[in-house]
Amino acid sequence: MSIEIKALAPAQRNSCPKEYSFGATFSDHMFTQEFDEGKGWHDALISPYHALTLDPSAAVFHYSQEIFEGLKAYRKPDGGINLFRPLDNIKRFNRSAERMVMPKVDEALHLDAIKSLVQLDQAWVPNEQGASLYIRPTMIATTAKLGLGASTSYCHFIITGPAGSYFSGGLTPISVYVADELRRAVKGGVGEAKTGGNYAASLYASEEVKKQGYSQVLWLDAIEGKYIEEVGAMNICFVYEGKHIYTPELSGSILPGITRDSILKIAPTLGYEITEMYLDIETVLQDIKSGKITEVFGCGTAAVISPVGKLGFKGEDFVINDNQTGPVAKALYDELTGIQYGTREDKFGWIE
Ligand code: PMP
Repeated sequence: MSIEIKALAPAQRNSCPKEYSFGATFSDHMFTQEFDEGKGWHDALISPYHALTLDPSAAVFHYSQEIFEGLKAYRKPDGGINLFRPLDNIKRFNRSAERMVMPKVDEALHLDAIKSLVQLDQAWVPNEQGASLYIRPTMIATTAKLGLGASTSYCHFIITGPAGSYFSGGLTPISVYVADELRRAVKGGVGEAKTGGNYAASLYASEEVKKQGYSQVLWLDAIEGKYIEEVGAMNICFVYEGKHIYTPELSGSILPGITRDSILKIAPTLGYEITEMYLDIETVLQDIKSGKITEVFGCGTAAVISPVGKLGFKGEDFVINDNQTGPVAKALYDELTGIQYGTREDKFGWIE
């Protein structure tokens, strides 16, 4: 199947505005395709950004049968544009689709849709330090029926919009509160799928901790409330004695982050050891107190690397590295962003 393109005339197109806010400013075009049982995917189309018309009984509104992704296009110094590991992203989209009983999309078509869309809206890929074009593939269940069951029709769409540098003042440490009572996802549930319900479930705790001055929540496993899982939209890493990085192993309730996977591969090339294992919150907090843990950082597409300067737990604060960005976070940030923006060698073949 090929993608039909109904683009705005060049004179009608906009370019990236000087002022924009992440997730609230969108580029000129979007991709859509529809799925119907018996017919499969059809009507792949790139057209001007527009509202979708859905029946109020559409399954997505009632039972949250939906999935999404997040990746970025980066402006290279020579003006060209890089996509970072887009196929890994598409594969995760299809794994989420399977878990949510939704039809898989054709990998090549989805990649083609992203490339065509970014090419058409290339004037929207920012040219500033640390900025990028955020790409949001989504799939929603559109069947108009309230009876509980998998939908028989779906809409797959991709929208894009400029995203500024996550940190205006460089890598600035954030404060994170460890959720001591609320839980995000349980083993056997849908925590490892990128589906809206996981994020809706996280909002209550996120809003509560914001009132106390923390910017994110660190989630613990839902069965024992003992093992560290991940932050709201990031995986997490702990550095012991400046050289050994530990990250929670994928338990089934954690999103397998592409940034996390990239760090697992890059860290050894920078001389760090890295281990995936279950990490007990009590041990980690003791090791922060004793100074064995020298750095903590989150990792994800949005911020790349986000140093954590303070962990709050049951009313007590644990300060890490004097609330400063550490050398391991900085080295990984420089290497990853260097590959993404095309200023460092892409040893792993991650760039399209
Ligand atoms: N965990 C969650 C819950 C997320 O939403 C994200 C962002 N996609 C991540 C981790 C990091 O994943 P990635 O590195 O692929 O962006």
